[in-house]
Amino acid sequence: MSNRRRAYPQPAYNPNLGAVQSNPGTPQAGGVAPNGFPIVNNNNNNNLLSSNTNAPYQASPYDQLNQGMGAMSLNNNGYQQPMQSQPFLQQQQQQPLQQQSVYSAAQPVNTNALNTNLPYGAQAPGMAVGINGMPSGQLDVQMNALYSTDVMKDLPPPILDLQFPPPPINLPASATVTSSPESNVQPDFIRSTLNVVPSSSSLLKKSKLPFALVIRPYLSLTDEESPVPIINDGIITRCRRCRSYLNPFVEIRQDGLKWKCNFCALLNDLPAALKSNSLLNRYELNYGVTEFMATPEYMVRAPQSLNLVFLLDVTRNTIQNGLLATTVRTILDSLDRIPNDQGRTNVCFIGVDKRLSYFSIPPDSDSSKDISMMVVAPPTDDDDIIIPSPDDLMVNLKYCRNNIEKLLSNFSSYFMSNQSTDLDLGNALRSGHSLLEKIGGKMIVVSSTMPNIGKGKLTVRDEVSVAGKSKESTALLTANNSFYKSFAIDCNKSQITVDMFLASSTYQDVATLSNLTKFTAGQTHFYPAWNASNLEDITKFSKEFSNHLSMEIALEAVMRIRCSDGLKGNAYFGNFFSRSSDLLSFPSFPRDQSYVVEIGIDNDVRRSVVYFQTAVLHTTCHGDRRIRVLTLALPTSKDLTSVYASADQLAITNYFAHIAVDKTLTSSLDSARDYLNKSILDILLLYKKEIVAGNVGSSSPLQLSTNLRMLPLLVQSLIKHIAFRNGIVPSDHRAAAINKIGSLPLPELIQYIYPSIYSLHDMPDECGLPYEGEDDYEDIIPKIHGETILPECINATFNYLQKYGLYLIQTNNELFLYIGGDSVEQLLLDVFGLSTIGEILTGKHELPELDNEFNIRVRNIINKIREGKGSIRYENLYIVVGPSSNERAIGGGNEMSRDLIALRMWCMSALVEDRSNNVLGYKEFLGQLKNKMNS
Ligand SMILES: [Zn+2]
Repeated sequence: MSNRRRAYPQPAYNPNLGAVQSNPGTPQAGGVAPNGFPIVNNNNNNNLLSSNTNAPYQASPYDQLNQGMGAMSLNNNGYQQPMQSQPFLQQQQQQPLQQQSVYSAAQPVNTNALNTNLPYGAQAPGMAVGINGMPSGQLDVQMNALYSTDVMKDLPPPILDLQFPPPPINLPASATVTSSPESNVQPDFIRSTLNVVPSSSSLLKKSKLPFALVIRPYLSLTDEESPVPIINDGIITRCRRCRSYLNPFVEIRQDGLKWKCNFCALLNDLPAALKSNSLLNRYELNYGVTEFMATPEYMVRAPQSLNLVFLLDVTRNTIQNGLLATTVRTILDSLDRIPNDQGRTNVCFIGVDKRLSYFSIPPDSDSSKDISMMVVAPPTDDDDIIIPSPDDLMVNLKYCRNNIEKLLSNFSSYFMSNQSTDLDLGNALRSGHSLLEKIGGKMIVVSSTMPNIGKGKLTVRDEVSVAGKSKESTALLTANNSFYKSFAIDCNKSQITVDMFLASSTYQDVATLSNLTKFTAGQTHFYPAWNASNLEDITKFSKEFSNHLSMEIALEAVMRIRCSDGLKGNAYFGNFFSRSSDLLSFPSFPRDQSYVVEIGIDNDVRRSVVYFQTAVLHTTCHGDRRIRVLTLALPTSKDLTSVYASADQLAITNYFAHIAVDKTLTSSLDSARDYLNKSILDILLLYKKEIVAGNVGSSSPLQLSTNLRMLPLLVQSLIKHIAFRNGIVPSDHRAAAINKIGSLPLPELIQYIYPSIYSLHDMPDECGLPYEGEDDYEDIIPKIHGETILPECINATFNYLQKYGLYLIQTNNELFLYIGGDSVEQLLLDVFGLSTIGEILTGKHELPELDNEFNIRVRNIINKIREGKGSIRYENLYIVVGPSSNERAIGGGNEMSRDLIALRMWCMSALVEDRSNNVLGYKEFLGQLKNKMNS
């Protein structure tokens, strides 16, 4: 872009925050570990060491950032560097320049004022704690230093913190067998609410902080995007007593014949095959995340194929709104994306209304047969489902491909004149269950009708009389028919997952139906007011549905989390079924969800380091039986200060969100909000009483450790979230939001709670264009060659939306492109190709593609945001015109359209720092907390 115009604003500030020096002495993945061992195994998975930027084996931006911070032991991504006294962090962030945009009115640009305090700094000398129970000769480990912030004065809240890595985990260098920098699992996979574990249950209780792990076994939809080291020589070494897997934190005895389990301290024999010089090169001794190819003893039966049963609503409503046609078209277009490299994937299609329409699909090689449809009336009682010719209903995708394409091309026409408005989903599900009972698989339900007959019959609930009242959650958000949960548990036992795509303009009872997906490790996808007459609706549904079909799910999976002696999993959250107290069952394992386990401390923890190991036994959709093992080591402390200095505000928010969901479903929305309010108040009170005691008077500042300074904001944003907010929210929307909160991976969850807002009219020149330099991880937000550069986010408050500005607001559900009502003509021309604000078509539609650089940059940014690698989501864009100085001029009339008012209100609800619907703004919320603390 050498002929780039320079008429646009200069960078408001240098985004190269705190330029840091990288430490050339630190090993990079694929190179040589500090001990001289090549980090390579007898494994042919070469792409592990390739330059894939998503690979977890490369120095992450955090690592490099951290290296620059004075070679601290910020091994948040598993790097363990030698302990040493650390200088205090001296990162100076540049204050934004007050530059005036060409788009600006007379006012100066009010960009987010950056705070110069980082949430956690270097380790402070003199805070060392002793190591107990470690092999002799180890060094002491230094804990993260505690810095306090007065959150009342820390305004606007420094939202860049939301993108920071968690406080580093500091382990003694001797904690690991090798010096591999990736011995500890990276925080992308597992984040602990506390990166220093309290050494007793009483200390944990006293801290008022929750102790939980946020576990995300997969980072992306396919292995190619985030490969892990694979051990494929059949040697799976486990402790005889506690069954934990050999990992980087065991102790290898000097004679090289035995290993001491780091979980239960049992001395185990090493397998003969490992007693060699290359022992320390083993992946399982070098990486916090590994995957074993499983041996036959890990198989109950031969690895199953991927079997998909599509239950497609064919009622009149679904035909009229275009969902059926869009669905079959998307499946047809996605056939090559469905994992099937072994040619073993099977599919089955059933049309569902008051009857069940089955399709017999012959193999392509048999030209004597044609596709036939068989319509069966389901039983009216508990009789067994009668399935016609079951042998050719579930057919091989490869060998019947032509006929499958033919069926899908004609599918809608079979039901074109269907007038039935009845949906017997219960019997359709039972039918799918019969087909999959012996082989396992997935049922994918696509519907725009509430099931209104048969076993799973639902009725419209009375929203009006209970919405916004205390009994709202029990009346509207819990299951309205017990069939769904009990059926889901049956499905789980038979290795069947249910996924739902619900798209309707009327009530569907998401709260009840989502029981199907919750207990079968599936997901409920909700498309309110969906209609194929809107191109954007088709695009969103098709992209997400297609991405869902392409995901490399695992099959027949179980997950178990092992803890060091004295610790245990107390409660588990997410979409699965608990088969026993600590064995979680997933008929299929999705790649776009995460799980939270609350950890309880039974006994005093005497060890200085404790361990957690998550193992996911699964069958890949390519037919391999594997075990993914993630090992986390955390230091312990008797010191509350150390615990606070290493608490992870994002992981804590995730835990709080799960408890709030739980309280909503078992008690009330009031109790969920009360819980959130009390949790943050308790933490602030404890902090005042125990951590900064004696330092404050009645006019005390609202102190909190700097690494937790975003917690009040996140908690208040949760209270305002559609899932929990006070006031009238359609219950399907509320239920869908609760589902998302209960399963979203952490980065997505945080964005769902606190939206990302980008100021576009004054963005730096390079934003919206591909990054032309070398990969650069030194920024907090890394730059990767070729990837579109995004502007830095601004605070979610109306105060920051200038009347002449252009903003993109991302809520994880939708994108709003907000254009201020006073915007200058040049901005309107460049972005929309229009010269007056009144001509802009507001609502759900794409930006016009114009041949000017600014339009291209804005569209690049929108496209970049929509990539969402670890998620199937595709966000619709809503164009919103904000108020002008002369509001009445908008729309060319005296009154704004009601649609625009509603759209604005919706968009404004994303501005979570502001006061809305009688809910306090953030500053007022802090004031209220302060008053409560002093009362
Ligand atoms: Zn053991």
